Amino acid sequence: MILKSNREPLEVAILGGGITGLTSAFYLLRAGARVTLFEAQPQMGGLATYFDFGAFWWDKFYHCILTSDGPLLQLIDDLGLTSKLRWTPTKVGFFADEKLYSMSSSLDFLRFRPLGLWQKARLAAGILYACRIKDGRTLEAELATQWLTRVFGEKNYQKMWGPLLKCKLGGCREQASAAFIWATITRLYSTRDKSSSQQERLGYVQGGYRTVFNRLLEAVEGMGGSLVTSAPVRQISAEGGGVDLEVNGQRLRFDRVIATIPNRPLAAITPGLNAHYVQKLNAVTYLGIVCVVLVLKRRLSPFYVTNLAHEDVPFTGIIEMTNLISTEETQGRHLVYLPKYTSPGDPLFEAGDDAIWAQFREHLLRVIPDFQDRDVEKRFTFRERFVQPVPTLHYSDIVPEMETGVEGLILANTTQIINSTLNNNAMVKIARQAVETALKPSVNKCAETENAPATVA
Ligand SMILES: Cc1cc2nc3c(=O)[nH]c(=O)nc-3n(C[C@H](O)[C@H](O)[C@H](O)COP(=O)(O)OP(=O)(O)OC[C@H]3O[C@@H](n4cnc5c(N)ncnc54)[C@H](O)[C@@H]3O)c2cc1C
Repeated sequence: MILKSNREPLEVAILGGGITGLTSAFYLLRAGARVTLFEAQPQMGGLATYFDFGAFWWDKFYHCILTSDGPLLQLIDDLGLTSKLRWTPTKVGFFADEKLYSMSSSLDFLRFRPLGLWQKARLAAGILYACRIKDGRTLEAELATQWLTRVFGEKNYQKMWGPLLKCKLGGCREQASAAFIWATITRLYSTRDKSSSQQERLGYVQGGYRTVFNRLLEAVEGMGGSLVTSAPVRQISAEGGGVDLEVNGQRLRFDRVIATIPNRPLAAITPGLNAHYVQKLNAVTYLGIVCVVLVLKRRLSPFYVTNLAHEDVPFTGIIEMTNLISTEETQGRHLVYLPKYTSPGDPLFEAGDDAIWAQFREHLLRVIPDFQDRDVEKRFTFRERFVQPVPTLHYSDIVPEMETGVEGLILANTTQIINSTLNNNAMVKIARQAVETALKPSVNKCAETENAPATVA
């Protein structure tokens, strides 16, 4: 058990009940700390939360697990859920030149018509080269657009990478560094079979992330942790060796606080942050997401992910979840996500569900010409403004440190992912680092010159 000098256990508060917050709570309790977690929403889970789709529950946004997700698989094991993991060989589709191709094996790649033999050879060589780079930080000095053209050639850029980048990053594509695209390529290739078929194998936990969160809640409460929902923390301040939180009209004191919330909301509720740190928090650009989810009576394609190499398609890709998970999970229905990553100021966030669907439907028909309205049993639209931090040039220099400069206050959020894309494996790793930081005898000794209190706009 972690004891303070007065022999009392260390009291830790956590802001946010997503995967990072709950994982931190779980490992802190195992280390002997006392934990209270505050979640602003009525339901735990954050971006990885679950949703009642009518006939079944599944993740509100699509999630898959990779065979290379070490820390996440360790958490699943620590929760006793390894027996509920399922692995599926999945296929990738590619929509190019108004035609849907399979890109799931070496043979598919050879048959892919939109690229000539020389372009294919250059593409394969480029991917091999990217996979050999071990530290993506070396690519942070170059823009993704320039790097892709240099490594894969102009034709491959025009035909594939340019449109893909536009789909993935929208207007932010001119800001992203090559590290972003490198992380995407290497993460996907890390889950490919090492055999000659090179087939992708992806996983999920039966019941989806709802199973993981339910087990986390059970474990945290079982170890004496306290979980409070509908509890947005309104202010964080530190004085006299403790951190005070204002939440639900109360002022509560803790030895340590781990904040897993996005940067700007943290800056807004923590007046004591120093100017240098606030500058770092505000320097990170986020992409948001607008995601249409269809519950269908039929399968659309054999692909888990269909990439779209057409700049004018208004969504980022087609994710047919039921080509990864069994339809037993969805009571025989087919579950399809049409995500659009876009900047938080995009008018799409203000558009009504039907207006968004009218735009998306037209382009879905281009990819799946025999799609019919009567195939749709239910349709949902989800919107989140702070989702994907954009790895801009020299991103590691602006990443906010865990130790925030406010005594006892630790930051553990998605902006701290370096060398990977946004994913739960990276967040479990960050949560474990935050736990280690919280257990240190003292947290936050920062340079005097950087310590002037900040003004938060
Ligand atoms: C479309 C989509 C697809 C994805 N696909 C995958 C995938 O295939 N594989 C994968 O591994 N990952 C995937 N991810 C990423 C994954 O969902 C994230 O990595 C993860 O959810 C981030 O968790 P987090 O706990 O760090 O943050 P969040 O989930 O954002 O949690 C932060 C929590 O803090 C709460 N909060 C905010 N302000 C306050 C406050 N003042 N007081 C108290 N609480 C507050 C919020 O309500 C929220 O619940 C995907 C994400 C999206 C959006």
